[in-house]
Amino acid sequence: MNKSISGRCHCGSVEWEAKLPPKIVLNCHCHMCRELSGADYSSWVVMKSNQFTLVKGSDILSRYQATEKFSKSFCSKCGSTVSCVNDEKFPDHIYVARGNISSEIELAVNLQVYTDDKADWLVLNEAIPVYNP
Ligand SMILES: [Zn+2]
Ligand SMILES: [Zn+2]
Repeated sequence: MNKSISGRCHCGSVEWEAKLPPKIVLNCHCHMCRELSGADYSSWVVMKSNQFTLVKGSDILSRYQATEKFSKSFCSKCGSTVSCVNDEKFPDHIYVARGNISSEIELAVNLQVYTDDKADWLVLNEAIPVYNP
């Protein structure tokens, strides 16, 4: 198993690397994640902030303050979500968008959260533990 992973946005302006292991790999079904991603849910690799390194695109990365305590970083050119930070609950952690990982590595989702808010049409994978804070 590689000791690190890399990822990029769609247009390639933003590239990052991250050291493994992550703290947790989760799918979040909350309304905010659904709205921010435009997808049924968001898939995040959660790690300590210092495990994550932006390799390219610091000038292109934009930040959207979604709530007082929650911000999302994205590529201002192609719009790809890069990461999120939850300053309220996990200020020293970063949520990295799992879908942008470009290296070949198996990072199974080990938790699904806010499933009470999940999209009506979505059928949950019952093999993955659920947590509703
Ligand atoms: Zn981009
Ligand atoms: Zn969420």
